[in-house]
Amino acid sequence: MSHPPRKIAIFGGTFDPVHLGHIHLAGLAKAALGLDEVRFLPCRISPHKTASIPTSGGDRYEMLRLATAEIPWAVVDDYELHQPGPSYSFETAEAMARKFPAARLFWIMGGDQWEALPRWKHPERLAKTVEFIVLARGDAPQPRDGYRFHLVHGEHPASATAIRKVISNSDDALKWLDPAVVNFIQHHRLYRP
Ligand code: ATP
Repeated sequence: MSHPPRKIAIFGGTFDPVHLGHIHLAGLAKAALGLDEVRFLPCRISPHKTASIPTSGGDRYEMLRLATAEIPWAVVDDYELHQPGPSYSFETAEAMARKFPAARLFWIMGGDQWEALPRWKHPERLAKTVEFIVLARGDAPQPRDGYRFHLVHGEHPASATAIRKVISNSDDALKWLDPAVVNFIQHHRLYRP
């Protein structure tokens, strides 16, 4: 008897730092689609983006490991960090499809990324490889022709940009972070001016 394919969702992002909104979104996606695994893939940040916040890939990876340590279905994958330059999502998705040829692949993103997706490189190749799982961030994301689309409900207010701003000014708005991530940030003095 053949088994149904494993459902693996790729969750790409800068994760600078990973926050409870990311974990919340991953959990909603897992429950809504019956995922077997969510693979968090921190991206390499392109040099022109790191000017003000040079958080290393190693630190972002470590914070993801801390934040997902208790989650059995979460995997942190350093694939993009080992690529020679910033990776395009379609290439990463195709690499995952080669690595897991029998799996049903998904890509998790927030509504902001869903809006930007048509401007990514080769979105049609990404759309061929994965189904999209989208959580609204503000306006309700709309389905689009040619994209397999699953909307998950349950907004979360966290934002990495807001978190970095707050940390650089004071220590107190850390409620959107896992306590182990807060310790890591304080110990390594990340996001300080
Ligand atoms: P910033 O606030 O700086 O944009 P971010 O958390 O959105 O940070 P990433 O770490 O790159 O940046 O996010 C990874 C993915 O998680 C993206 O697809 C983003 O849309 C999604 N995401 C992050 N926070 C939320 C949220 N609160 N609700 C829905 N999606 C989110």
